[in-house]
Amino acid sequence: MKIVINWHITEACNYECFYCFAKWQKKNQKELLHSKEKVRKLMHEISLLPAILNVKSGTAFTGIRLNLVGGETFLYKQQVLNIIQEACKYGFELSAITNGSSLDRDLITVIATQFSTIGFSIDSLSDKSNLEIGRSFKNTPIKKEEILEYINEIRSISPNIDIKINSVINQINKDEDLTDFIKEVSPSKWKVFKMLPVLTNQNMIDDYEFYNFLKKHNELQHIISSENNDEMTHSYLMIDPIGRFFQNSSTSFGYEYSSEIVTIGISNALKEIVFDVNKFLKRSKLIPNLNVLNQIPYTKIA
Ligand code: SF4
Repeated sequence: MKIVINWHITEACNYECFYCFAKWQKKNQKELLHSKEKVRKLMHEISLLPAILNVKSGTAFTGIRLNLVGGETFLYKQQVLNIIQEACKYGFELSAITNGSSLDRDLITVIATQFSTIGFSIDSLSDKSNLEIGRSFKNTPIKKEEILEYINEIRSISPNIDIKINSVINQINKDEDLTDFIKEVSPSKWKVFKMLPVLTNQNMIDDYEFYNFLKKHNELQHIISSENNDEMTHSYLMIDPIGRFFQNSSTSFGYEYSSEIVTIGISNALKEIVFDVNKFLKRSKLIPNLNVLNQIPYTKIA
């Protein structure tokens, strides 16, 4: 099994989702992706991680899957291409999440030929809702037709690539029915997140509303993957754009950080955060079908 590292390579994004949690504390530090030397060093440090975890936790990780996230992952094209090139030198499996807005023919070819998985973040199919959520650029909301076109192009080059959809459920989209769209995309997994109060609690939904959304999409249960707060806490290894591990703060809004990995080494940086390897393993086994609908009494969601 591979250990998954989620590297948020940049905070920059052309969209402005109100709930966006891609905001990290910086003290005049530049995002690491702009320095080729630091990217090289970070990739080297990341390559050491399976051995470190195997010794520390008795696991049997065989490699790395580097999941590139943002901000918008593909906003800085040359920089992301450099990261991909460096990661390939270590044989990392690659995946990414994108809002789809910055893709072009080159990137589509790179994704189709170098990545095992590509995830698209889609919260809504309604222009009005996407404008309200902030999934728009210069007042033009994301278009589902465009995303479908990209997915088809990627699949035409790489028919077996894993396609995923991520959706964050909040007050604005909680009543929508995305069934037909998801069926059309036919992803291997649809990750449905209840909006977390990481940086704001505006437009949050409660458990009842979240489960109602899931219930409406019951026929897609076999591909829905959904996690509650506890399952998510400390079960992800996440690196911020500066090159620090970070975790959601257990006491307040925002994040807790390690020192910079390229400065103190990944083994020391790992000691500065909480990472629950058992939760990671449990989560990996549960995916792709967590079957959350069976976790609460029917009467609560009927
Ligand atoms: S598309 Fe993603 S990174 Fe961009 S603003 Fe929305 S949530 Fe944040």
